[in-house]
Amino acid sequence: MIWEWLAVLTANNGECMYCGGTSQTMDHVIPFADGGADDPTNLVPVCHDCNRRKRDKTPPTWFIGMDLTIRWYGSGTPQGGSCLGDSSMSLREMYLSVHQEVLALLDDLDTVAAEIADPKRREWFETRYRWYGYPSASYGVPRARQQAEERIADGKERGYPSLDAELARMLKEKGLSPAD
Ligand SMILES: [Zn+2]
Repeated sequence: MIWEWLAVLTANNGECMYCGGTSQTMDHVIPFADGGADDPTNLVPVCHDCNRRKRDKTPPTWFIGMDLTIRWYGSGTPQGGSCLGDSSMSLREMYLSVHQEVLALLDDLDTVAAEIADPKRREWFETRYRWYGYPSASYGVPRARQQAEERIADGKERGYPSLDAELARMLKEKGLSPAD
C-alpha cells in the first residue's frame, strides 16, 4: 500500500539506512527468503544500489563482507584504509573495527524501526493515504512522496496530529471555527 511505502521511505529523514543517500525503496532487514516479515516491522528505507548489493543477506553479514572486501584490497594482506585511514591494521584490529561499525549499524536499525513502528506516526500515514491503494504505473510512490513531502514535514514537526486536530487547525487558519 502507498501509505506503507510513504511511512517507511520517509523514516530516517528520507535517507538510505546504509549509505545515507536518498531512500528509493524498502529493504527487508531480515531477508524475506529467510522468513523475514513482509510488512513495515521488517522494512527500512534504502537506496536502489544498497538494496541490490545487500540482496538476501542480513545487515551484519553484508556489512562485514563488504567492509572486509573494501579493506582487503591490495596484495592479499589486510590493509586498513578506506574507512579508517589506517594502513597498518592487523587482522584482529580490522575485525574489531568492523565489529564496532556493525554495532552502530544495529543501533541505527533499532532507532529507525522504532520510528516506523510508532503507532501515532503509523496512524497519521494510514488515515491520510490509505485511499491511494497500491502503487501503480499511473500513480507511483515517487509521485505520492513528492506531493506529500510538505505535509509529512509539517506532520513530523507537530508530532503527527490526528485528522481532527489537523482539520481544526486549517479552519482556524481560515478564521473559521469547527461550528461554522
Ligand atoms: Zn544506500
